[in-house]
Amino acid sequence: MIITNIQRFSLHDGPGIRTTVFMKGCSLRCPWCSNPENLNSFQEYYIKDGQKGIYGKDYTVAEVFNEVMKDKNFYDCNGGVTFSGGEALLQAEKILPLLQKFKDEGITTAIETCLFVPTKNIELVVPFIDFFYVDMKIMDKKKCRDKIKGNLDLYKKNLDFLSSKKKFTVRVPVIGGYTDNSENRRLVAEEINRYRTSIIRIELIKEHNLGNSKYKTLSLPLPQYVDVSDELMKKYKEELECVVGIPVEVCKI
Ligand code: SF4
Repeated sequence: MIITNIQRFSLHDGPGIRTTVFMKGCSLRCPWCSNPENLNSFQEYYIKDGQKGIYGKDYTVAEVFNEVMKDKNFYDCNGGVTFSGGEALLQAEKILPLLQKFKDEGITTAIETCLFVPTKNIELVVPFIDFFYVDMKIMDKKKCRDKIKGNLDLYKKNLDFLSSKKKFTVRVPVIGGYTDNSENRRLVAEEINRYRTSIIRIELIKEHNLGNSKYKTLSLPLPQYVDVSDELMKKYKEELECVVGIPVEVCKI
């Protein structure tokens, strides 16, 4: 499997202390993406401060397993491993044996996903994942295709499937000029209401520009979006809580 980073002691990618595995390759192209090195599913070379580097390395199951198990003593009952990206579910077949091994060891498993993947990939791993974190981005079909290259029919089909199998956390990136407008807020609230019995928690995610240096290394133009103020995030949280009746948390990741 191709991975760009294995990050130990992560505190924002699920419960407890976790090790996050960043998988390379994504089906979407969100203009605000803070992980541009994870968009393409192949290795990419770059030069930074005169030094050559590479985004992406092939790992075997044993290599990832051993790296994650280094911190086994810190996971307690809740912590464990999180697969992120990019879109980890694009490599579902490859992570399946890993997930099975972690379950055998009593390590909890989590995944951060946009759900724009073939449904069979989700079917494959769903029995072995404890915590799903599912993005909810642009909920208008045409805008979803035009702005982030997503097939919203596929997303909705996958949401249907997932909600029939598991409870999950919804993550809404709040991005001025893309997801943050009254029409999209209304559509997001509608969708959350549709799946409310399967939703454990809702997180509103404030975007950051920590990925800008990586855009420069890849000679890509920097992301352009309007920053959303803390005050507006708080207002959105209150509005959404009022409409859906589920606690909403504002997060900066
Ligand atoms: S789904 Fe995530 S990794 Fe993929 S383009 Fe969007 S923000 Fe980036």
